[in-house]
Amino acid sequence: MDFKKLVSHCKEYGFIYQSSELYDGLAAVYDYGPNGVELKNNIKNYWWHSMVRMHNNIVGIDSAIFMHPKIWKASGHVDAFNDPLVDNKDSKKRYRADVLVEDYCAKIEGKIQKDVDKAAKRFGNSFDEHQFRTTNGRILERQAKIDSAMSKLNTGLAEGDMAALKLLIEELEIACPVSGTKNWTDVRQFNLMFNTQLGNISGEEGKLYLRPETAQGIFVNFLNVQKTSRQKIPFGIAQIGKAFRNEIVARQFIFRMREFEQMEMQFFVRPGTEMEWYNTWKESRMEWHKSLGTDANNLRFHDHENLAHYANAAVDIEFKFPFGFKELEGIHSRTDFDLKQHQEYSGRKVQYFDPELNENYTPYVVETSIGCDRMFLAMVSNALVEEPVPGSTDGSTRIVMKLPKAIAPVKAAVLPLLKNDETLVNAAKAVLGQLKKHCQVQYDEKDAIGRRYRRQDAIGTPYCLTIDHQTLEDGTLTLRDRDSLDQSRLSPEEAVTLINSETSFATIC
Ligand code: ATP
Repeated sequence: MDFKKLVSHCKEYGFIYQSSELYDGLAAVYDYGPNGVELKNNIKNYWWHSMVRMHNNIVGIDSAIFMHPKIWKASGHVDAFNDPLVDNKDSKKRYRADVLVEDYCAKIEGKIQKDVDKAAKRFGNSFDEHQFRTTNGRILERQAKIDSAMSKLNTGLAEGDMAALKLLIEELEIACPVSGTKNWTDVRQFNLMFNTQLGNISGEEGKLYLRPETAQGIFVNFLNVQKTSRQKIPFGIAQIGKAFRNEIVARQFIFRMREFEQMEMQFFVRPGTEMEWYNTWKESRMEWHKSLGTDANNLRFHDHENLAHYANAAVDIEFKFPFGFKELEGIHSRTDFDLKQHQEYSGRKVQYFDPELNENYTPYVVETSIGCDRMFLAMVSNALVEEPVPGSTDGSTRIVMKLPKAIAPVKAAVLPLLKNDETLVNAAKAVLGQLKKHCQVQYDEKDAIGRRYRRQDAIGTPYCLTIDHQTLEDGTLTLRDRDSLDQSRLSPEEAVTLINSETSFATIC
């Protein structure tokens, strides 16, 4: 579905609102509405279920957002968690230099894709895309432009050479999308951490950061968790929590936010085994995405060329968002960098005694890190479709959110056929009372039944239970399936059993 339509659907159906909308909004900050919070909680619970419950050697924690300021010095975030910033002097708009170059490349990639699509149409079944891409002169020329720009960008970023980035923007003749001019300031480093001040300590000493990643809360608790959970290496620590980044460019809805939530797992391994574990987690995380019904064609790996200061290997799982393939999750081999840094900065020994090897060492870490909000956006973009009503012949369409049943915000809706018939309403409320002990359910008696069905389709409710006059006679109700629209009659007890089993995580994990 068109991205604009998706955004307005999210608002209209109580999934996501712009934060502080009453005051004209706060950029890149969003609030989740009644259906949104249910869907988000289900995504978080499914991740937790897959990580913690399904692995004997992964345990969870919930560390505080505020941490000792030295932690961010040790982790390298104070000195190196920067984005290259550039302003256009005419529009006064601020950009990330790397994003300007990436957008320039994406435009060329778009042109290449157009040529490929045209050729595919012309040659039909005999079309060999790989051959076309590797032999067509115009495509090769365009690809060379992309490769050269990306290689210069990566070198500039890796060397922290801001002057080279400015030169690259000039060389590519990139213009500001707002003013259309090429009148740029110098490129400079901009630290992405928000900070605040402790009330009882003034100056630098009392400066606190809002964590830009949840991972450090795990690293500094490594010894506590290992000792109290008696885990042996290899083992993991998982955490879900808020993170904050002062993003320069805020756009694409909940894709890039200033306050967001991360689901991270740090897996501690023996030195020398990290690449094996890196590959294991890489595959395992890809399978997790597929378990949620995401089409394999909409997922891909993207290896990092430009490694963060702490990593010796890194890959993104990219998802085809409505605005193109973008990072959804990162898998990083973080070496022993963080634990060693914390050992040095804290002055305390942060090591593991391996009883099998009979030696102490600093474990290596493989991390999986996914933004809960990006996952939410991926799920909604996967699921939201406008389609012909199944079985209808009059050309009518419906908007339906085909979410996996296990993560749908509302599992069932209870609908009395008529709202003015007290006996039907009472029977429906009795079913509601039974069902709500088991799952998230909605009661709706307003409007004709067809409209109520559409409202439930629009939020992805897998089952609608209609209470009609036959219910009063034989106690059965009608269960309507969201996807097939099949209807069947069964008792409320049978409905509860069916809904519980069909919406359980066991069906997908
Ligand atoms: P990007 O390159 O898109 O800025 P990143 O490489 O900085 O992302 P990581 O530091 O690897 O991201 O963070 C791990 C995950 O956290 C990302 O894969 C993404 O899902 C999520 N994430 C990061 N920044 C944001 C943000 N500003 N808003 C929402 N989610 C985010």
